[in-house]
Amino acid sequence: EKPRLLDDEEGGVLFYSASASSSSGFGYSNIEKQRQRLPVYKYRTAILYLVETHATTIIVGETGSGKTTQIPQYLKEAGWADGGRVIACTQPRRLAVQAVASRVAEEMGVKLGEEVGYTIRFEDLSKTGVTMVKFLTDGVLLREMMDDPLLTKYSVIMVDEAHERSLSTDILLGLLKKIQRRRPELRLIISSATIEAKSMSTFFQTRKRRGLEGEESGPRTDPAILSVEGRGFNVQIHHIEEPVPDYLQAAVSTVLSIHEQEPMGDILVFLTGENDIDAAVQLLNEEAQNNGKHSSGLVVLPLYSGLSRADQDLVFSPTPRGKRKVVISTNIAETSLTLEGIVYVVDSGFSKQRFYNPISDIENLVVAPISKASARQRAGRAGRVRPGKCYRLYTEEYFVNEMSAHAIPEMQRSNLVSCVIQLKALGIDNILGFDWPASPSPEAMIRALEVLYSLGVLDDDAKLTSPLGFQVAEIPLDPMISKTILSSNQLGCSEEIITIAAILSVQSIWVSARGAQRELDEAKMRFAAAEGDHVTYLSVYKGFIQSGKSSQWCYKNFINYHAMKKVIEIREQLRRIAQRLGIVLKSCERDMEVVRKAVTAGFFANACCLEAHSQGGMYKTIRSAQEVYIHPSSVLFRVNPKWIIYNSLVSTDRQYMRNVISIDPSWLMEAAPHFYRQQRNPIAS
Ligand code: ADP
Ligand code: MG
Repeated sequence: EKPRLLDDEEGGVLFYSASASSSSGFGYSNIEKQRQRLPVYKYRTAILYLVETHATTIIVGETGSGKTTQIPQYLKEAGWADGGRVIACTQPRRLAVQAVASRVAEEMGVKLGEEVGYTIRFEDLSKTGVTMVKFLTDGVLLREMMDDPLLTKYSVIMVDEAHERSLSTDILLGLLKKIQRRRPELRLIISSATIEAKSMSTFFQTRKRRGLEGEESGPRTDPAILSVEGRGFNVQIHHIEEPVPDYLQAAVSTVLSIHEQEPMGDILVFLTGENDIDAAVQLLNEEAQNNGKHSSGLVVLPLYSGLSRADQDLVFSPTPRGKRKVVISTNIAETSLTLEGIVYVVDSGFSKQRFYNPISDIENLVVAPISKASARQRAGRAGRVRPGKCYRLYTEEYFVNEMSAHAIPEMQRSNLVSCVIQLKALGIDNILGFDWPASPSPEAMIRALEVLYSLGVLDDDAKLTSPLGFQVAEIPLDPMISKTILSSNQLGCSEEIITIAAILSVQSIWVSARGAQRELDEAKMRFAAAEGDHVTYLSVYKGFIQSGKSSQWCYKNFINYHAMKKVIEIREQLRRIAQRLGIVLKSCERDMEVVRKAVTAGFFANACCLEAHSQGGMYKTIRSAQEVYIHPSSVLFRVNPKWIIYNSLVSTDRQYMRNVISIDPSWLMEAAPHFYRQQRNPIAS
């Protein structure tokens, strides 16, 4: 079988499909052999038997043992997809959905999007009536429940990566438990990389039909637990002697010394996000240029969500002979994805985590220490192919005494606005009494209800309002953006707001500066609008369209071409959704005041006022008088208008507002009188 060539659409550049090239030279039977070598293969019969006889099966197995790629195939082979039924496998991360779906399609020798498909938000590569095995994010499966509350087309739903305890996974588990009561024929598989199976098992046990056991036909209701014994190799763990001041620098020098001193084998480095990963890639590449002898033979690749397809494929492709691959990743490589050939792991000890404070109602992504469980998972990645080594950039004392045993479920550290609206839309009224795998804090719940009430989405009885509440729930975006889109209808600027919403849905439309910060800033200034980032995005979008969607134009203007292509796709989908909701597509031409008013209608809760006598542009949120600053990436950084609204916060040394727009404070009272009337607020004065 020849390696398949993928056409990179525009550029005319040809890439080897990574997974295809990894099996180049092997025939079909070799894929079969590879499959049989995976630890999970020995359990094939046991798994199929348990799924047949139990409503819920919990499967625990080391990362790389074959849970995600094999179990859905076993189920299909055993007939669970016969008669037009579909086998679903959920993942918390989109990138993982795409990667495992294409791997499975390849193993089955089918074209992705046919028998094996995937769906992530704004991208559906599956075909009704054709797709038998479908990978999707847990968030998308939740959305599917709005049209089909009992998820009737699925015969088996495998909730994968359950140990991550993502917000959507936990909501999904709560709802699936309800669905099972109505659909005894539905089978659930909960798979996880760590032994938190006990609590999952207890969660699914509570509905035991006392005394009725055996009297009814059908599967047993108590969950089965199966543990897949892996065959990981020994990993030697090295801790650092003294705490390091800068984990980025430390990671780079650790990679260089591994390369100098250790035998061949690929390196996986865990950092936290796009920014520090790009910085590390750049430092290593610079090292290669300036000081060739330490770093010749290194192939340095980033791995984070939001990478282009071609960059993803490079990560999975086999290391060229005589070279050493260095993959610098977020925690996506911790358990979601398996990279072959890793022998060395460098663990910074940090990841980006969501934290929410219900008192201040502020949620942000923070670089925070990982748990012991994560640290062990990361180390385990070094022992896939042969004994490996893990270099932790923290002390042993820190690991033992400071790191918490497990991470807190996301449910307990998130803003619950989206969660509440989804449950409401599914007709779950008693949200406080909902059966959660981990209970959220009542404060966070009350905050969410309050915000939804002030958005006009919930009424006095905490029911969805009609039509606004139902419409907001229908749009697969944060309720604040959805409300902005709906408000743009009356304000006559729906075309502009849909563009803004599409751009805010991608990570960033600017390319990272890569050492040319001044040029990037200058490029930004060419588009900068005095009103703020949202309006600036409109000029970028206009320029991109006028250039004929040119990649050269993007390159010249420091704009991420792949992100812009994504924006065009998302925008198209949002237009369709808007039309379905009866929104009239209309442009306000040059009138940016209505655009700002529409943003205010959705994001009034994020309003801030510049502190009159502050040095250095300190703002306070009107809601909770929190100290916040405009992020340096904003076009309003240093401009500091008196009244602004932000889209999101990131916290480093300070709380920084990203995507900021200036407003007139009188609009706040118009947009949300009940919200601002109760507050002791400076608008009145
Ligand atoms: P688990 O879900 O238990 O962590 P997976 O099913 O994801 O395991 O992976 C099983 C094995 O399949 C991996 O160890 C690897 O050998 C292979 N594999 C998975 N994805 C790919 C890919 N994209 N390219 C090449 N091999 C892969
Ligand atoms: Mg997996």
